[in-house]
Amino acid sequence: MGGGQLGRMFVQAAQAMGYFTAVLDPDAISPAGLVSHYHIKTAYLDEQGLAQLIQRCAAITTEFENVPAPALLTLGAARRVSPGAEAVAIAQDRIREKAHFVRCGVPCAPYAVIETASQLAAVPEDLLPGILKTARLGYDGKGQQRVSSRAELAAAWDALKGVPCVLEKMLPLKAECSVIVARGADGVCVNLPLQLNLHRDGILAVTEAYEGNLPAPLVAQAIAATRAIAEQLQYVGVLCVEFFVLQDDSLVVNEMAPRPHNSGHYSLDACDLSQFDLQVRTLAGLPLLQPRQHSPAIMLNLLGDLWVDGATPPWDQVLALPGAHLHLYGKLTASKGRKMGHLTLTGATVAQVRATALQAAALLGIAPF
Ligand code: ATP
Ligand code: MG
Repeated sequence: MGGGQLGRMFVQAAQAMGYFTAVLDPDAISPAGLVSHYHIKTAYLDEQGLAQLIQRCAAITTEFENVPAPALLTLGAARRVSPGAEAVAIAQDRIREKAHFVRCGVPCAPYAVIETASQLAAVPEDLLPGILKTARLGYDGKGQQRVSSRAELAAAWDALKGVPCVLEKMLPLKAECSVIVARGADGVCVNLPLQLNLHRDGILAVTEAYEGNLPAPLVAQAIAATRAIAEQLQYVGVLCVEFFVLQDDSLVVNEMAPRPHNSGHYSLDACDLSQFDLQVRTLAGLPLLQPRQHSPAIMLNLLGDLWVDGATPPWDQVLALPGAHLHLYGKLTASKGRKMGHLTLTGATVAQVRATALQAAALLGIAPF
């Protein structure tokens, strides 16, 4: 379900093992639709489209978070669907998601739910300055607004047309990181190494994946928290949990994505099992093994900003760097902030990978990190 780049990389991993794939996406040319054996071009809730998918597929997964839950319920009644409708519904709704984190005993940013004018009026003063986030349908920082006073908060909620929101306290971030796990129907759970993530303008810009990217106790804590979050949900599939590291080195959970994640793309080139391999295995009921990272890696996201003046980025120079792996998603038009591809640098040592990643960034006009 879904034809974006995550679907494309899943399809490619499935095809590498000989599977046939079908993608349901209304868009006539989508990154995953272009490479799949079958492309069902209907709306996500179209009954005929869903019936075709059921007919074609033994098992079904999703590549974006906002697949309508009723579609997953329909599919789940006939086929193995992972992750299941219930887990996806929780991840789709920041209010339910935060309640789940609290249930798991994993601390999240202090927050208040705002669904009514009286809840707005009752927001505790110490949540300001904060970030107002829509409960549903936000991504890449969309549907979020920073507010520093009650007046700004009221205006921001008004501008969001009074939809259900959460106000989160603005936290002093030292770093951001994420952990990806895959959990099978038999309860076996494996994880990729922790990713250190740099966001710019609310969009992931750089992921650094190597030993020592964060202090070992924090890494262990984040992995344990992610496993607990998956376990509590009886989750089946690939799950990514994003965390904040605060100035005092405490760890706070931000949000989860019920699918492979942009921060895990390095695993395609730096691990013996990628996050998409793990997704294929969970879907097919095949054994899950703990992935082994064989090279330090840094991933640079390639946003449409690199194309805007119409010129193609200097791939010839970028690909002359040792350990450069270019992934482009087959999107035909570039626009500012659009994820067009990613570049992973691998190497023998962290120092070498950092050096080539900085060279690549300089060639591409990406700010140093
Ligand atoms: P995506 O789904 O693409 O990860 P999103 O739109 O769901 O993004 P969040 O992950 O909630 O957005 O926030 C985007 C970024 O904004 C975070 O990665 C972080 O840099 C910043 N941010 C979000 N919440 C807070 C907070 N409470 N305090 C400080 N910074 C925050
Ligand atoms: Mg996020």
